[in-house]
Amino acid sequence: MTKRILRFAPSPTGYLHVGNIRTALFNYLQAKKVGGEFILRLDDTDKERSTQNFIDQIKRDLEWLGINWDKIEQQSLRIDRYREVLTELKDKNLVYECFETALDLELKRKKQQNLGLPPIYDRSALKLKLEERNILRDKTESHWRFLLSGETVTWEDKIAGEIKVRTSVVSDPILVKGNGQFLYTLASVIDDADFGVTDVVRGIDHLTNTAVQIEIFKNLSSHAPIFGHHSLIVDSSGENFSKRSGSLSIKSLKEVGIEPRAIVSKLVSLGTGDGVDVDKNIDELAQNFELSKFNNAPVRFDKEALEVLNKDIYEVNFISESQKFISVKFLKKEITQEDFEPLKKLSNHIVYLKFAGSSLKKNLFDNLENFNNLVRLDLKNNPFDDEDLSKLLSLENLEVINLIGTSITEKSIETFNEFKNLKRVYLWKTKISQSDIESFNQQQNKVELVGAVIN
Ligand code: GLU
Repeated sequence: MTKRILRFAPSPTGYLHVGNIRTALFNYLQAKKVGGEFILRLDDTDKERSTQNFIDQIKRDLEWLGINWDKIEQQSLRIDRYREVLTELKDKNLVYECFETALDLELKRKKQQNLGLPPIYDRSALKLKLEERNILRDKTESHWRFLLSGETVTWEDKIAGEIKVRTSVVSDPILVKGNGQFLYTLASVIDDADFGVTDVVRGIDHLTNTAVQIEIFKNLSSHAPIFGHHSLIVDSSGENFSKRSGSLSIKSLKEVGIEPRAIVSKLVSLGTGDGVDVDKNIDELAQNFELSKFNNAPVRFDKEALEVLNKDIYEVNFISESQKFISVKFLKKEITQEDFEPLKKLSNHIVYLKFAGSSLKKNLFDNLENFNNLVRLDLKNNPFDDEDLSKLLSLENLEVINLIGTSITEKSIETFNEFKNLKRVYLWKTKISQSDIESFNQQQNKVELVGAVIN
């Protein structure tokens, strides 16, 4: 079976916002789920609007959210390749040279509007004779358009179902601008073909582009990828997000203390019937990811809901101080010394501490050392070592340790029996050697190892 290759292709002309990240996640999670490849492609052929600053911020934002790419590509470095393909299209008479200025086109559109006609380019440049073109070329910059077939393009969309677009109702797209800039339409097709992209998920606003691009793929004798077009998200006033609106940029959400986990889990549930599950990390979300769960009706994204969700993650969420048993969840990405302060007040309670997907710094095990009312510790996915474990030996009430998604050594297993009251250790998805488990099982143990898979 061919390897699935997906990509996220932002233009570095602004900061990424939650809408862009939703697209990134659709592609990233699908790639992860099928063990495919995920490419970050920077669509930076617009030299005036693309900046290094935006490129750097895009990379920072994605990394912060846990969206990691296997390969990075940059369109501005592939212009020679685009020129080569343009020549191929010229040789096949599939592109034609046009000389209208922006103002000419605007006037044409107005005229069509007044006559009640659809604003489609009238192809007048196709009628120009060779001499006329030579004269015009001396006077003005020329741009190139792709000659659409006018036929109906049909595809089975992974989200929107069967789609049919008649290209006779679409203007022949400009592939190269007067200043020589290659536009997204052609550059994207060449890249998707050259990089072997198998699946493209993007916003429903790209439907017409997709029809046009499928025609170009065919003419270049390349296979078009499988497409899925997701709905767009709107803000609380019903407006579309734009890079320029800024308020829900990832950068600004990070600055006001929103946790990456809140953003990712919210975006993954939006538009499905599923509730938000902040307990799952990005790999677990990938395992459950189904494109077919999403529908293509616009969905509202409101910042307040994100803030509420964030509290669940950010704050040490005591169920109630008056309760005897308290469960404390830490889902923050980075845990600091300060986060442990409130725990000091809990000296009369029975406590269950849960660290799911946070990153525990080494010294934080020191904070647990004297936390004698701890009964259950959940380290899910957080690395620890033998030294960390031995720090917990003084905890007389510790009964359960959950080590799902971590890895343990033979020494750690032996330490389990030294705990005063430890009864159970959960080991699902824990990396552990078979011989270690076997030798543990042969001993007289006070502790039960649950969920260890012996291959
Ligand atoms: N640069 C394009 C955009 O941001 C990419 C669209 C696509 O995924 O093909 O809209």
